[in-house]
Amino acid sequence: MSLDKPSVSYVCQRCGNCCRWPGDVIVTPEEIGLIAKHLDVSETEFIENYTRLSANRKHLSIIDKENGSCLFLEGLNNCKIQSVKPDQCKGFPNKWRFDGWRDVCEAIEVQGIEEN
Ligand code: SF4
Ligand code: SF4
Repeated sequence: MSLDKPSVSYVCQRCGNCCRWPGDVIVTPEEIGLIAKHLDVSETEFIENYTRLSANRKHLSIIDKENGSCLFLEGLNNCKIQSVKPDQCKGFPNKWRFDGWRDVCEAIEVQGIEEN
């Protein structure tokens, strides 16, 4: 989606709410390699055990837990694959946003460019 205030960016407060938001967490082929290595499993094992087809059936997405949160969310706000998390996770909310994001995201608005 288009970003409404290009001169404004958001500093993540690590609330973990975006990791609980139901929906796809897309992983690219390169990210699959990095995450599989981080988890010490083969890429095939990672794909079979940790991913599903995205809603549009064009990509692979990390599996959701029954409550809709990401499989790799531990506790309130700890990402089990933080050092190799997908670009989708790094880019929210400065590079992309979902409808209603401001109601759940606790990021603080600042002037200038920020990334998670
Ligand atoms: S991979 Fe990590 S940062 Fe991304 S949604 Fe899952 S828990 Fe959150
Ligand atoms: S991006 Fe927003 S919703 Fe996600 S952890 Fe940071 S403050 Fe919370």
